[in-house]
Amino acid sequence: MTVSCEQVSRYGEHIAISVTNSCPLQCAHCISGSAPDTARGASGLIEAFDALLARWPIINHVTFTGGEPFHHPEELAEFAARAKARGVRYGVITGAFWGKSERSCDRYLKAVPDLATMTVSTDLYHQQFVTHRHVLNVVKAARKRGIHVKVRFTHADPMPEAERAVEAALKADLRPEELEYAPLQKYGRAVEQGIGRSYDRWSPQPRETKYGICPSTGPHIFENGRVMPCCNTIVSLRDTDIPLDFGNAITEGVPKVQANRAQNTFWLAIKVLGFDWLKDRLSELNPAYAEYAPINACDFCFDGCKPGGIRDDIARLMADPSLALYVHSVAAEALGEMPDIALLSGFAAQIRTGRAESGIRL
Ligand code: SF4
Ligand code: SF4
Repeated sequence: MTVSCEQVSRYGEHIAISVTNSCPLQCAHCISGSAPDTARGASGLIEAFDALLARWPIINHVTFTGGEPFHHPEELAEFAARAKARGVRYGVITGAFWGKSERSCDRYLKAVPDLATMTVSTDLYHQQFVTHRHVLNVVKAARKRGIHVKVRFTHADPMPEAERAVEAALKADLRPEELEYAPLQKYGRAVEQGIGRSYDRWSPQPRETKYGICPSTGPHIFENGRVMPCCNTIVSLRDTDIPLDFGNAITEGVPKVQANRAQNTFWLAIKVLGFDWLKDRLSELNPAYAEYAPINACDFCFDGCKPGGIRDDIARLMADPSLALYVHSVAAEALGEMPDIALLSGFAAQIRTGRAESGIRL
């Protein structure tokens, strides 16, 4: 089987970095559990970021996120300057706490003079701290500077009346192309607060007929230097030991992080072969998986990473040398990378010596 598509080969064009995990707000649904006293960027983060830019040659865009990247504007300015010096475009994701007036927008945006993109997060929970006026001021300041701006509105499904009012105000003041929607997900602090949709993952009705491949376009570096494949649902497992962990760019260095990425069989499997393939393999281990129906690829991935649940079955599959050899061979071709000969030889040796295999078909 040959797998090759743009979404696979482009992985790494974009990276995201939490320049801090602190935030002046404390939204009830926050996926990163941010608050005013959560950790700032660790010592060595900016050097690790610069090293990553230098060694990740296809990168063309960085997103500064958090926490709230504007919580420490001087530090944000340093990260922005490093990106600019490397010729990499940059953008931010912000909660817009700094949008009190046109003057305050001018003051904060001085930190990022070449900002290309901005995503403003808002919803019922943000607006307990930050008003619609703040959001609008920030959008206007971005428009004035030619920054590509979007407002991401997170909402429940169906929306309660209070959320519909927030949406109506956004629709009235934004251009249609400036508004995007995100479902309220039960991850991070939302779990403690009992917010977000809960559903039966073993219902016989699939939410998506096809799960596809991991949609990430590049890795996420946390404020402590830890690197994961994305800034999606698995971010809520940031303090947990998970199988999709590329290591720490500060303490282990960027070359080790890159090697970990290239050797992570689970990640290569979901990036190149995808979750439908994975579900088929799990169903061969246990026919009950035919009924397994997460909402989408990232929900599936979250289940595969969180302790307990399906994680152990996925680990069994990935430890099978025949499967690992297959995944790494296909991935090298799809990603356009040189195969790691030592790694492949190791799997081949395990197969020759008759190491027990799971019996799955590839
Ligand atoms: S603004 Fe964003 S980072 Fe800050 S607490 Fe709210 S959801 Fe979390
Ligand atoms: S949560 Fe998993 S599937 Fe989704 S983008 Fe991240 S690594 Fe990919």
